[in-house]
Formats: sequence, C-alpha cells, structure tokens
Amino acid sequence: LYVDHPLAEGQCVPLDRDQAHYLFGVMRQSEGAAVLLFNGRDGEWLAHVTQAGKRAGELTCEARTRPLQMPPDLWLMFAPIKKARTDFIVEKAAEMGAARILPVQTDFTNAERIRQDRLQAHAVEAAEQCGGTFVPEVCDLQRLDRVLDGWDGERQILFCDEGLAGASSALSGLFCDEGRSAPESGRWAILIGPEGGFSDAERARLREFPHANAVSLGPRILRADTAAVAALALWQMALGD
Ligand code: SAM
Repeated sequence: LYVDHPLAEGQCVPLDRDQAHYLFGVMRQSEGAAVLLFNGRDGEWLAHVTQAGKRAGELTCEARTRPLQMPPDLWLMFAPIKKARTDFIVEKAAEMGAARILPVQTDFTNAERIRQDRLQAHAVEAAEQCGGTFVPEVCDLQRLDRVLDGWDGERQILFCDEGLAGASSALSGLFCDEGRSAPESGRWAILIGPEGGFSDAERARLREFPHANAVSLGPRILRADTAAVAALALWQMALGD
C-alpha cells in the first residue's frame, strides 16, 4: 500500500478515508493485520493495523523488508494525447521503470493542460501493482522548446522520430545516429511526439540538438502510446539493467 508519509521503525501512519475504505472495506483487513507499505522514498516496510475504522485508521511500522530500489535514470517525455491514452502512457512508463515522466507541449499537441495530480495517482497505482518501492514523479505540462532551452547536457535524448520510420532498424537506431556512436549508458530521456507527429521546425531543431539522438522504432508509424511502450522496452533491453 502506498502512503505519503515517512516510514521508520515504530512510526505511526494515519490512513485517510479512501485508504481505510480500501484496506478494511475492500480487502477485509482488521486490527492486527500485517500490511506492506511504501512511500517511494524509504523502501518497503512491514506494518500492522493498530486502528481500523470506516473513515480512518492507523498502521504502525515494524521493520523494513526491502530497501528503496531506484530505477535507471531514464525519463519519458511525451506529448499528451487523448485522456485514456495519456493515462495508459503514464501507467506503462511507471511499470517499465521510468524515473521521471514529463508531459511536453509540442507544436501539434492539442492538450493545453493536464491533470497532473490524476496522472501522478496513476503512477502510484502502477508502482503498487508491480511491487515497486519507487514512484516516478509526473511533472506538469511544459513547452518542449523551453525544456530544450534549459537542457542539462549530461542527459541524452532518445528522439523517436517518425520521419525516420524504416530508415534503420530499431536496435541499430538506439546505438547509432547516422553513423555516430551514441553513449551507451548514463542519463537518458525518451521523447515521443503527439498524434500529428513533430513539426518540421521541431524536427530540424532536434536533429541539430547536440544531446539528441534521432532514432527509428521500425518501418511502421506507431500510435503515440504504442511508440512510448516500444521505446521504453527497447531502451530497457539495450541500455537498462
Ligand atoms: N497518428 C498516430 C496516433 O494517433 O498516435 C501516429 C502518431 S506518431 C506520429 C506519434 C509519435 O510516435 C511520433 O511523433 C514519434 O515520436 C513516435 N513514433 C511512431 N512511430 C515511430 C517510428 N516508426 N519511429 C520513430 N518514432 C515513431
């Protein structure tokens, strides 16, 4: 169970109404029950229910069962698309071990805003369901050009460029950008465009950008949500641990 509360030996952790409903109503737990907790910072903790009510409750931490397992330093930057498909991208990125999720507004992005809190909740649920101890941060929507203006040159961008579809195989694209070798490890950010793809101006800037590596994800133009999952899987296979 995810709780937004510090976890340490003897620490009391209050449960809000939704958590109490889930634990005592849905999962039928009661006082004395053992529960595994994580907060994305302190690892996984064994706790016991010390108060069980309909609208609230309390757990007490006993011992740490697993340390915090940090994912590789991989970000997913993507242009938000329709609501359900944006939710899907955030959920899959959290499952696939992205450390940070950055929705970016591109020239052809239709969304003007996102519900950051809702997307963060999806990331928490995904981390819960795959037994992770880490929850990726979902950032608020930012303009892609601003993100690039302030880019930290220590991080490489894996620029998934539908204009290269078919130009090179997916795997060689991960390692080579028109013959140049890309760094094989370190900090990375995958960049996925919106339904309409990247504009010519964006593509020109990204192809010239010193920290971006333009890659193909294969011969077919994938839907943005499929492309995000494919790129995460290929990155994990080629560069992940
Ligand atoms: N119209 C479709 C949709 O509704 O999702 C296709 C969108 S595709 C243009 C969205 C993004 O997926 C692209 O901007 C690119 O980042 C990535 N993408 C899709 N197919 C790709 C490919 N074969 N190679 C590289 N990137 C690809």
